[in-house]
Amino acid sequence: MPIYEYVCDDCGERYERIVMNGKTKVTCPKCASAKGTVQLSVFAAHGNGTKSSSGSSGPSSGGGCCGGACGCN
Ligand SMILES: [Zn+2]
Repeated sequence: MPIYEYVCDDCGERYERIVMNGKTKVTCPKCASAKGTVQLSVFAAHGNGTKSSSGSSGPSSGGGCCGGACGCN
C-alpha cells in the first residue's frame, strides 16, 4: 500500500502516512496542522528491497559486464 511522506508547512515536521485514497486527511503529529506537503512516495525507497551483492548471483568478480571498471560489482 502506498505510504506518502509529508512535510508540515507550519513546523517542518516530516511524517509518513499510509494513504488509502487521495482524500485521506493527514495532520502533523507535532503541531496538528493539516497543512502538509506531500513528498515523494517512499514505499519503494525504504525497506528490504535494496539489492545487495551477495556474490552468489550476478557476475562474479573478475568477470561481469565491465570487469569492475564501473564499480557495479
Ligand atoms: Zn507541524
